[in-house]
Amino acid sequence: MADSYEWHPETALIHEGINRSQFMETAESIVMTSGYVYESAEEAEHAFKSDGTRFVYSRYANPTVATFQNRLAKLEGAEGCFATASGMSAVYNALIASVQKGDRIVASKALFGSCQFILSELLPRGGVHTDFVDGTDIDQWEEALSKPAKVVFLETPSNPTLEVIDLPKVSELAHKAGAIVIVDNVFATPGNQKPLELGADVVVYSATKHIDGQGRCLGGAILGTEEFLKEKVTPFIRHTGPCISPFNAWLLLKGLETLPLRVERMSSSALKVSETLEGHEKLNRVLYPLLDSHPQKALAQSQMGHGGSVVTLDLKGGKEEAFKFLNALQIISISNNLGDSKSLATHPTTTTHQRLSDEERAGMGITDGMVRISIGLENADDLIQDISNALSKL
Ligand SMILES: *Cc1c(COP(=O)(O)O)cnc(C)c1O
Repeated sequence: MADSYEWHPETALIHEGINRSQFMETAESIVMTSGYVYESAEEAEHAFKSDGTRFVYSRYANPTVATFQNRLAKLEGAEGCFATASGMSAVYNALIASVQKGDRIVASKALFGSCQFILSELLPRGGVHTDFVDGTDIDQWEEALSKPAKVVFLETPSNPTLEVIDLPKVSELAHKAGAIVIVDNVFATPGNQKPLELGADVVVYSATKHIDGQGRCLGGAILGTEEFLKEKVTPFIRHTGPCISPFNAWLLLKGLETLPLRVERMSSSALKVSETLEGHEKLNRVLYPLLDSHPQKALAQSQMGHGGSVVTLDLKGGKEEAFKFLNALQIISISNNLGDSKSLATHPTTTTHQRLSDEERAGMGITDGMVRISIGLENADDLIQDISNALSKL
């Protein structure tokens, strides 16, 4: 094999950048340290002068965190990665590092609740204004991006309605308006949709979701060019400290080893669940990007390898029936998390999207009968059985 042979992502996720100690441990070591020592005062002086040549403090960089960052960057096809303490610290830092007072952001309105909060409540305090558009409507993007903007922020597929946004088209419009495109890629899942190849500039993750995938810890990541990370993101991370614990980075590192396997299984089960339940008498609709009934199935197929792990059911009978359904589930737990090996179901109207007004929810297509199900690693037939049983109680 030639030395220049590029590993496939699955291989890189197991072996890339391993940094063994003198004990030659098989598994990646956890370098649980806040600081680092120097052999001499001269060495300390040199370390601070020639920035980045060695580890100086774990708010800046840490060996275990670095291994995680390198592997995730490989999977994403990004030049670099910064890991953060949570998905929200990744989103916030990517945004705040990209804007200044007076700048304008254009964002899709179907966003994760806290992302919406940052854009509509926090950033305006610093004089940064956001215009929201219906992400599926290219005319609205065109209109909003006919004026200069600094950043386009979007999520595709969206939560919980699984609407798909045209990444190449929106990226083209954004670049013409002078904006960089930041994509929250959580619902598409890492490796399955590569926004950077589709025209976007920056990808952010909540690693809490599929990357950990086992409900153990929070984490986040910002991926993009070396230049963006070095010039824009690094100063913010260094001086504001949203850094991840080496222990959590290690959990996420172990999560990466099995990520492609887990996500492939989750999404093949999600497709099976959605196909089986479509047309059920107790349901208005089943929402899943790869169903024939999904209005953007072709777009989803062109941007995503598979449909992801989330299926949304729209139950007839609103909140009352949705609650009855949730309470009747035996295997699937009620939880607002997602991407876990355990299947989880949530009622967006009263949990994740509770902060929004009725009009805002309606504008996002969220109904009172909606239940979002994150499909885990249980046997798909058992999940179908669990859902069918619960529906039969209505
Ligand atoms: C969970 C989530 C976040 C926030 O991540 P945390 O790790 O909980 O901080 C942001 N965006 C999306 C789409 C998410 O699902």
